[in-house]
Amino acid sequence: METNVYTQPKLPYAPDALAPIISAETISYHWGKHEKTYIDNLNKLIRDTEWEDTALEDIIRTADGPLFNNASQAWNHIFYFFSFNPDGGGEPTGDLAEAIKRDFGTFEEFKRLFEEAGVGLFGSGWVWLSQDKDGKLFITQGPNAANPLTQGLTPILTFDVWEHAYYLDYQNRRAEALHKLWDIVDWNVVGSRYTKKL
Ligand code: MN
Repeated sequence: METNVYTQPKLPYAPDALAPIISAETISYHWGKHEKTYIDNLNKLIRDTEWEDTALEDIIRTADGPLFNNASQAWNHIFYFFSFNPDGGGEPTGDLAEAIKRDFGTFEEFKRLFEEAGVGLFGSGWVWLSQDKDGKLFITQGPNAANPLTQGLTPILTFDVWEHAYYLDYQNRRAEALHKLWDIVDWNVVGSRYTKKL
């Protein structure tokens, strides 16, 4: 039987392409070492177990302990790093832009609430924009390997608020690190994750 072995995808930009917002050094540690370790651990944990044939999203929805932590971290970092583009920034368009306006008032207010949720998370974790099956948007935050898939939501955008995501470039200035990320968000990619009705 064919079984899952997860491999780290190649990033869709050069390691220095997001600098100075995310430096090549941060990419080399955060993607090259932290994310690689989560994927290696995930492969070790599922080998020769019932999880070997389970889709990654279903592992995240149902596992706990080290398997949940490594599976979710593996998924979250791919989702995070593939949300960026050196030519990113600006504003979403289309259905996602309309939904943001409907659920948060303005794009500026959405960004403010999203940053606030990220800054307000104590310790390591993630801040998320997700949708429910009716297309309603939610901003959530959660510790460690948190993922809204476990709450029945579909992720649209995430910012990593672990210190390893920003410490080399911003030291303890998490608010500044999160605020700068808007300039590299690829709204074409992020907007394509949104569906008015699932
Ligand atoms: Mn991280």
